[in-house]
Amino acid sequence: MHSPTLVIVAAILAALVTAVLSAVWFFNRNIPGLRLWALALFCTTVFCVNLLLRDFVPLLPSVLLAQGSIALTAYLCLLGAREYVGRAPLRHGVAAGAMVLLLVTVAYFTVVQPHLEVRFVLSGLVPGVCFLIAAHSMAKGGFRKVPARYLFAGTLGVHGAFLLVRPLLFKLATPADASQPEAGIVAALSQFVVLESTMALVLVAFGALMLANEFITNELRHLAEIDPLTNVFNRRAFLTLLDKAISNAQRTQTALPVLVMDLDHFKKINDSWGHRAGDDVLRHFVMLAQRCLRKEDVMGRLGGEEFAIFLPNAGAGGAIAVAERLRAMVEAHPVATEPRSIALTVSVGVTLCSGSESAGTALQRADEAMYLAKGRGRNRVEMAAAPAAPLAPVVPTTPATPTTLAA
Ligand code: GH3
Ligand code: MG
Ligand code: MG
Repeated sequence: MHSPTLVIVAAILAALVTAVLSAVWFFNRNIPGLRLWALALFCTTVFCVNLLLRDFVPLLPSVLLAQGSIALTAYLCLLGAREYVGRAPLRHGVAAGAMVLLLVTVAYFTVVQPHLEVRFVLSGLVPGVCFLIAAHSMAKGGFRKVPARYLFAGTLGVHGAFLLVRPLLFKLATPADASQPEAGIVAALSQFVVLESTMALVLVAFGALMLANEFITNELRHLAEIDPLTNVFNRRAFLTLLDKAISNAQRTQTALPVLVMDLDHFKKINDSWGHRAGDDVLRHFVMLAQRCLRKEDVMGRLGGEEFAIFLPNAGAGGAIAVAERLRAMVEAHPVATEPRSIALTVSVGVTLCSGSESAGTALQRADEAMYLAKGRGRNRVEMAAAPAAPLAPVVPTTPATPTTLAA
């Protein structure tokens, strides 16, 4: 039914893309999904080779291998898609049961009650459903404007749908009398089936490679932008984001508050509790700070125990409220360690960015306000005045004694 040339081409392509994906996986084993997609394409290669050799292999093993390998291809694509988007792995018991059921049914309709049409429907049904679920899993992980995700999910979705409607197409194209001219349509449809599968194979392989590339790019970006200890933006990335946010604020004529925070007497903590405890304190501080922030607020580590936050759309009043809340929260939540917890306070400087200045200038002003807070006793919030003006009066921190020192 199928043109041997097309099947040979498909087999060679399947083997090549399997080799390429396996090689990429071998050198980048942390890329999620890649190993499973390489295995999926290996199963496709087995399917194609089996198709080529079917005249030399007994019917039952040939049919079982064809059905099993294509169902496994689809299932592995599904597992890979789930792994890539970070969803929990499936329990294989259900899949193994379904596979046994499929193979027993296929064997029944091959040996006991031979029925080509039923086998043909089954060969599209099981993988078709799996491919559609795989496409859905990838789509559910979010496209995030990444072409690879559209390509991968789109190819699996279209291929899955085609496998499901394929028996119907053959039914419509098959003439009652094989000598009628429509017989040519069936032959053409058979060629198209191989062609479509080959195209899907190539596109899935391209999609998998592009997804691998997306993952590596994201990892490199993460390494370049994120502080590994505290998992917030590093100084360079924070400054870049702040520059962009200042331009946005200028366009929308809104104030952009920036907070600079420095942990008080942190050197003492390191000296008394050790560097590792100091690292825990830094992580603890970031965790507390993030509890005070909204989704659009951005936090960065400027270096050592100094951090900064900008708060789009918060306004001066909102920024001072956030700063005060953060200060109070840090004071109220010592770091739990044995034998006793580590008390911690933070000094905060707040400023509003003006539209024409750079991130560096704005941070410097917030830094000056923070040093003012240090000078005035630590564990407090100070607001810097607008650019080129002297620092504004102190913001009260606690009603009775605004400059309480925790350490
Ligand atoms: P102040 O209240 O005036 O800010 O005093 P301080 O002790 O916090 O400030 P100082 O600048 O004297 O000390 C900061 C310390 O932070 C010194 C340095 O060893 C420590 N430090 C910097 N980076 C890290 C880090 O990644 N981990 C740990 N554990 N300590 C760090
Ligand atoms: Mg400090
Ligand atoms: Mg410091």
